[in-house]
Amino acid sequence: MSFTSVEIMQRAGLYVHIPFCTTRCGYCHFATTVESAHEQYVSALLTEVKSISSAPPVRDLIYDSIYFGGGTPSLLRLDLFERIVTALRASFRIDDDCEFTIEANPERPGGVGEHAAFYSGLGVNRVSIGVQSAVPSELVALDRRHTIEEVEETVALVRGQIENVNLDFILGVPGQDQKSLALSLELIRRLGTSHVSLYILEIFPETPISRLPPSDDDLVASLYQDSCRFLANSGYRHYEICNFAHPGRESRHNRKYWNGSSYIGLGLSAASFYDGIRLTNTSGFSSYLADPSRDREMIHMDRDSISRELLFLGLRTVEGIDCSYFENAFGYDPATRFRKDWEELMDLGLVVKEDTRFRIPEEKMLLGNEVFMRFL
Ligand code: SF4
Repeated sequence: MSFTSVEIMQRAGLYVHIPFCTTRCGYCHFATTVESAHEQYVSALLTEVKSISSAPPVRDLIYDSIYFGGGTPSLLRLDLFERIVTALRASFRIDDDCEFTIEANPERPGGVGEHAAFYSGLGVNRVSIGVQSAVPSELVALDRRHTIEEVEETVALVRGQIENVNLDFILGVPGQDQKSLALSLELIRRLGTSHVSLYILEIFPETPISRLPPSDDDLVASLYQDSCRFLANSGYRHYEICNFAHPGRESRHNRKYWNGSSYIGLGLSAASFYDGIRLTNTSGFSSYLADPSRDREMIHMDRDSISRELLFLGLRTVEGIDCSYFENAFGYDPATRFRKDWEELMDLGLVVKEDTRFRIPEEKMLLGNEVFMRFL
């Protein structure tokens, strides 16, 4: 069985990047802009939809997830949002049972809460809300503009229409400690949404937050362990380094990034992966507006690079990797090929083996990079 046939058997995902934000948060390294060229951007995006959706094998794939990320997709004018959704439905083969997520910030009024019925009417059935912290001083350190009251009101309004909600939080915020983490965890417990993502703050040079004293690595590791324990006791299953869900509420779209499924990324800086090709759009806003295919990078990945990438992406998940899958898809057994690496990793306690599977134990997940680099 070739890699391609394995991949095509799975449903594909569509990612749409909406790069607009009202202000830029102090830690942000994403391709965003505070410009308000919404109409021009959507027009370029629709050009891209038309060109990429007509090319094989993209046109032949069936898509069972759509993810509007950013940026802040909920900032986009509603009529423009509707135009994009209409174009996607007309251009791609979208499964009736499609997970459809939109990312949003909890600002009010005029945010995703007030417009939840509109989004639901267009098929949106999952909302991912950037909360980041329940502690006002941490929100200030992150340059976030919302309040905890806005978070609570937004979640209540959204869940009146769309039950499946994710909350994003950040660990390692300057000044965060066990006591302040407890306030964020208490907010998670109180809201009881179906999904929670906990991201470790990455400090990029040149971002305003890099001027603040960074958190100690051991402290962050201990905050992570505390969070994992708390979430497990609150009914969440830890299924990927940063992701926790009520049973059956794991993000279908995000899983595609870890299991080798095809995905098509549309918009500024968006990446696609299909048929062994990795395609990355320009992150230059003016370039994208002038021509979405300008400065696009295309890499043809060979089977070995794909298999190694799938190894370390699979190890991000709690299930880890199944060697028999690699034997079927790529014709080799990772247990044999990387025997020495596995032995060393097991001696260090970074990996465990169960039957034909290797996985990283939960308490070592934050050290995943030490494992992943073996397969790059
Ligand atoms: S809301 Fe998200 S994408 Fe926008 S500036 Fe803040 S971190 Fe960046």
